[in-house]
Amino acid sequence: MASLRFLGAAQQVTGSCYLLETPYLGKVLLDCGMHQGGDDVHRLGKEAFAFDPTTIETLFLSHAHLDHSGLIRLLVHNGFEGDIYCTNGSSKLLPVMFNDAVGLYERDLKHENRRRQRKGKKLLEPIYTKQDVEKALSLIKPLRYGEKFPVGKTGKSSVCFTDAGHILGSAITSLTFEEDGEEKTLVFSGDLGKKVSVLMNEPALVNKADVILMEGTYGNRCHLSQKETIDELEQILKETWENKDIVLIPSFAVGRTQEIIFHLALLHYEGRLDPWQVYLDSPMAIKVTDIYDECLSVLDRKDAKKIREMHKGSLKGFLPRLKYVHSPEESMALNDIPDGAIIIAGSGMCTGGRIRHHLKQRIWDPKNLLLFVGFQAVGTLGRILVDGVKKIRLFGENVVVKSRIETLNGFSAHADQAELIEWLMAIPDNPRRMLVHGELSSLDALSMKLWKDHKITTEIPYPGQKMYF
Ligand SMILES: [Zn+2]
Ligand SMILES: [Zn+2]
Repeated sequence: MASLRFLGAAQQVTGSCYLLETPYLGKVLLDCGMHQGGDDVHRLGKEAFAFDPTTIETLFLSHAHLDHSGLIRLLVHNGFEGDIYCTNGSSKLLPVMFNDAVGLYERDLKHENRRRQRKGKKLLEPIYTKQDVEKALSLIKPLRYGEKFPVGKTGKSSVCFTDAGHILGSAITSLTFEEDGEEKTLVFSGDLGKKVSVLMNEPALVNKADVILMEGTYGNRCHLSQKETIDELEQILKETWENKDIVLIPSFAVGRTQEIIFHLALLHYEGRLDPWQVYLDSPMAIKVTDIYDECLSVLDRKDAKKIREMHKGSLKGFLPRLKYVHSPEESMALNDIPDGAIIIAGSGMCTGGRIRHHLKQRIWDPKNLLLFVGFQAVGTLGRILVDGVKKIRLFGENVVVKSRIETLNGFSAHADQAELIEWLMAIPDNPRRMLVHGELSSLDALSMKLWKDHKITTEIPYPGQKMYF
């Protein structure tokens, strides 16, 4: 019998990690993600594996986001030596993300240890190093979408990634293996994108599954249509332009940033955008934007064509008045800009990155606008701000929150309730369905809706639960 343990992203959104054990494949992991909140020095120390990493044969990675891939470096540090299968797109993004993360980690560890030294406290040992990142990257085996690839020792199992339409390289993982003389297929949706979005294709449909793990981040919500969201963005920016204030957009480096740049460009060409100066203040987002340009052929064909036809044929060239901000000095110089600028900076949930510096500089001033364009997980600074806190602590100082705060939920890179249901219903032959990667309220609402409207039953595994099939 095969078993599946839900080690993360069970009744919560982050820390995606599922352990599958079957006779032919041995122990394999679907994703190896970390939980969000805090910096790596503090949070990675709290992450512990519920298994021995040296016993894991293979890792199948749905996509490059750190809540799905962020613990791979610790897995390798703790002795994992198996293959890491992912898509070509993910294999291009992972070096950027892992190298960025280890750079930040080493810097923060140095700061923390200096602080400890001053207090006479014991110093922290690094829990992973650059060598672990290099080793992890050397284990990656990139596959094309739709390529059925044999895995495991006996050749009786295979993996196939299809497009999940969430970010560049994001995949739905189909694992086929033999079990008691029968062929079984386990499908993991990964993060599913929306049907209508820019740059991304529609999530691929699944035509065979015995067990399906589907995400339910927005299982309790229906998004505004893309048109409504863009109209809202236009309206907010128009109102803000009247006083020529500063707009801060905390944005994920991978996916959301490129989507926002694309939308701002479309608004510009439609004559709906005032002459804002737009700054992309994130070295990582800049690198990722370049990778999107390299991989235009796997992105949505119509949107890629628009980009190719524009001056320079790149996303950067697509939005006039977009300026890349590379060095910390250039980033600090943005503090002197009095008005008329949109600053896009990471991290998307304000848990780190340059956005925190901009918040300190601008959030006390009622004339500025903080514009959220993505999901804010419980416990993050972003969520606290969305929930309306009046004072925050940044870099050891209390800062009052007086700027306007707006949220555009329609930009989600996740399918909403109706889209999730449609995708799940398209899978033939009544597979066993498990809902993951969502807060319990979302998964509950999705489960109830599926039963009420379609008489479809689902399971909601709890963290740590082991299921047999
Ligand atoms: Zn994701
Ligand atoms: Zn996710």
